[in-house]
Amino acid sequence: MKILVINCGSSSLKYQLFDMDQEKCLARGGVERVGSPDAFMTHRSTGNDKVKRDVDAPDHERGLKYVFDALVDPNIGVINSLSDISAIGHRVVHGGERFAGSVLIDEEVMRALHECQDLAPLHNPPNIMGIEACRRLMPDLPMVGVFDTAFHQTMPKEAYLYGLPYDMYVNHGVRRYGFHGTSHRYVSRRAAMLMKRPPEEICLVTCHLGNGSSIAAVKRGKSVDTSMGFTPLEGLVMGTRSGDLDPAIVSFLCEELDKSASEVVLGYLNKNSGVLGLSGGLSNDFRDLERAAEEGHQLARLALDVFAYRVVKYIGAYAAAMGALDGIVFTAGVGENSSTMRKRICERLQIFGVGLDNEKNSVRGLEQIISTPESRVTVMAIPTNEEIMIARDTAEIVSSMGA
Ligand code: AMP
Repeated sequence: MKILVINCGSSSLKYQLFDMDQEKCLARGGVERVGSPDAFMTHRSTGNDKVKRDVDAPDHERGLKYVFDALVDPNIGVINSLSDISAIGHRVVHGGERFAGSVLIDEEVMRALHECQDLAPLHNPPNIMGIEACRRLMPDLPMVGVFDTAFHQTMPKEAYLYGLPYDMYVNHGVRRYGFHGTSHRYVSRRAAMLMKRPPEEICLVTCHLGNGSSIAAVKRGKSVDTSMGFTPLEGLVMGTRSGDLDPAIVSFLCEELDKSASEVVLGYLNKNSGVLGLSGGLSNDFRDLERAAEEGHQLARLALDVFAYRVVKYIGAYAAAMGALDGIVFTAGVGENSSTMRKRICERLQIFGVGLDNEKNSVRGLEQIISTPESRVTVMAIPTNEEIMIARDTAEIVSSMGA
């Protein structure tokens, strides 16, 4: 069975085609700068070099056409006909309270997705555009929606409610939803396998540390708390996002800077804060910051310290919330690659009996245990793979349709 995974952003789309019999990725790529005159596509298929070409993609639908053409192209393609594809799995950022798992997309689901748009005005509209474009191009193909929020729908009320009037939750949907759920789900399953323990027996803290970062408390296989909240702005200090702060800062900044609340939230808290802002505008890329810190750049060092400190605080809080801590997982760009950031964090976790094996911790982008055999908590670096989770969910739903 062949499954195509699509992830549509506001000006880009990414895809991977999987052969699910061996869970092998046959081709991957994307279209970038959708809607601009310099749109281009990349495509890499097994055994072939990466192809990059300019395309005329004024919208996602035209961009997707190039993807379908590339997949069946006699030279760079990997299938003979589009009818070889059994289904498409779509990444959807926000499923609200409506979706606690992946679903087959039908008219009712499309209506519900449109209703969720208000909750994720930046992310859901391009996801929906991608689904609608695929449905127009391939009307007979089953499509499945896989939600970033779904894994966190198991959080108890005490974890997802804010200290606001209850009516804000009931009538306006203001609550913690959490994001990166597909990644936290994937790495928590892999962690259980690495630890050779059933997921139902262990308490994990999974740290998805990338440009956007979040942490989840995964107790007996279920998410019971997570650091991102109503939007992906809450929680950790991120590449350009502030993470947690006193909400009164927003109105203070509105007055100080003579800006509207949405200008402050989008322009400052989302785009110019985080390690970029803390480092005096140096960079949101952790590689640049680590290099600069080593060369003595004080603000780069400070930004990395603030980032690590916030991670440590969340790990401590989640260990207490779960009443146990068996494993810590590091994933995503920083978590998978930065041995210095993992060390910076783990050095402050000695209270939990965490012992890092410096040699194993020097790995980059590999799945392995990086703690010492004596460590009371198993620390792991696990490259995330949200696409394979989307493909698996899609294959499972499509197979059950035929059953
Ligand atoms: P992601 O959002 O998961 O793609 O992660 C992107 C971030 O990972 C980039 O901003 C980089 O700062 C970070 N990153 C990637 N490779 C490394 C590395 N070798 N060391 C430190 N940070 C890295």
